[in-house]
Amino acid sequence: MTAAKPDITLELHSRGYRATPQRLSIYDAIWNAGDHPTVAQIHECAVKRDPTISLATVYKTLQLLTNIGLIREMASRDDSMRYDSVVDSHINLVCSKCGEVEDFECDKIESIVAAISSQTNFLVSSQSFEVYGVCSKCRAST
Ligand SMILES: [Zn+2]
Repeated sequence: MTAAKPDITLELHSRGYRATPQRLSIYDAIWNAGDHPTVAQIHECAVKRDPTISLATVYKTLQLLTNIGLIREMASRDDSMRYDSVVDSHINLVCSKCGEVEDFECDKIESIVAAISSQTNFLVSSQSFEVYGVCSKCRAST
């Protein structure tokens, strides 16, 4: 699946942050990676666009983007932190029989989060949705 790339300039501005070229380059590096890049990979890629970006800037920016929910931090098995630009746009369909988790792409999640932001004073940083039931394989085998 390919989600539409969020307008990071707008996202930063709406939260009172400046959309500096460094921040945009670093976000793009994560977005373009497509998988789950490490800090070193993000830095390497961002520097190609803007040689002034230091590793410290990458760390600070990743923290900021994570705090405002534009990226996700995920600890990987080798203990290095990896990052994911995917804005949560899927629902986990969890089978309560076999435990399989399917992704269900859902473009309505963003509007749910937008509704929370506009109707409450709650600052959403991330979200996950789980729906429980019985998967097609398990249904077929009963
Ligand atoms: Zn199942």
